[in-house]
Order: sequence, then structure tokens, then C-alpha cells
Amino acid sequence: MEIEKMYPDINPYTRPGYPIQEHRGVLMHWTATPRATAENIRNAFDRNIFNRVFASANYIIGIDGETIEYVPPDEIAYHGGSVSPEYYTEAARRLWEDHPKYVNWHETALNIWAPYYWLIGVEMCHETMDGKFTPATLYAAKELLIDLWEQKDMGDPVTHTLRHTDVTQKGVRGFEGELPCPRWWVEHPEDWLDFRMYTKEAICNAVDRLRGKYGAARNARLTR
Ligand SMILES: [Zn+2]
Repeated sequence: MEIEKMYPDINPYTRPGYPIQEHRGVLMHWTATPRATAENIRNAFDRNIFNRVFASANYIIGIDGETIEYVPPDEIAYHGGSVSPEYYTEAARRLWEDHPKYVNWHETALNIWAPYYWLIGVEMCHETMDGKFTPATLYAAKELLIDLWEQKDMGDPVTHTLRHTDVTQKGVRGFEGELPCPRWWVEHPEDWLDFRMYTKEAICNAVDRLRGKYGAARNARLTR
């Protein structure tokens, strides 16, 4: 797929330059800004640098499927974090609790107990406040996930593709005015499951083709 790389310089707010510890999946978001284009969101991330706001994502997918890589997939972006660690869910804790660095936490200088140290972040644009994604956005999201899974062995795509709300309970804790993320997929769980099942099939087919090409037993964790 066509991905436009538009990296900011390394900066504390949107691209700190820290490595993802181990790729354990992808975290999906909605922009919560109807009609914003991928470029609008890229510009908003750049403004975060001047406004000293810690928020970004690795990828931004627009309403027409245009896709920007804002932070390289081996580096963290700030998304799906929580000011208070008690809001991280079981699904979030499962990302790191079996990792040797968690067991030996005092040996690491970074505070790596946040979902973005383990998950690639994807922001998805939408036209309306209900957050429904266009077919072009959904298609591009599927193509991006195939691309990422071809490069990185991240486990079963159905269980390792997560919604922001799955890791922080955003919008489902009863805080007034806070919306779930991505709204459409939290409010329409049947569509969320459909997207992951359909994407998993496409990923499995793509990875099978790669196995044929390279003859290596790659992606052994695909069904785990
Ligand atoms: Zn989000």
C-alpha cells in the first residue's frame, strides 16, 4: 500500500525516539474530529509539540484511505496512555506482565508500563460524530495491518488488534462527556469483530504467500 512518511524531528511530545519494547499488536483510535483529513491530524500532532501536549500516533488513516506514517513503527508514539496506572485494564497488563523486563523492572531506566511501549498506534478519520468509518478508511486499515503483520510477528490478529477503550476503559468508566475510542467500534461490537475476522483472514493469506516465497516458518504466533 502507499504510505506517506511525514516524520517530525525527535521531540518529547510526539516522537520521543524511544523504541517499542516488543511488538505485541496494534491499538486503534478515532480522531473524534469529524471531517478532519489525515493531513489535518498530522498538523494537529505537530501543534502538540508547541503546545507541550503528549499525544500522537504511528499512523493516521484519512477518510479517503490516505495513510501517513507519522512515527516509525519501531518507535513509540504517545497514545492510549493513562495519567493513573490503575486505569489500565487486564488486557493492557497482559501486554507486559510476562515480559522479563517487567519481572526485572528495576533494571530498566524507562517507565515502560504503558500500552504504547508494546502497541503500534493507528488514528482513523471519520466524517460524522457517530464515528462510522468510510469503506476507504476500513480498506486502508486492513491493508496497513497486513503490511505490519508481514513485517512483525505480533500474535493472533483478532486478539492483538485492540481498541483504545480496551486498554484504558476510555469512555466507559462513566466520566461525564468522555467518549469511547474508537466510538463506532465500541458502540458496535459486531462490526469490530467483523473487521478483525476479515482482516485476520487477509493477513493469514498474505503471510502464507510470504512463507511460500521465503520458505521460512515465520509468524508462528499468528494463531496464538
Ligand atoms: Zn484513542
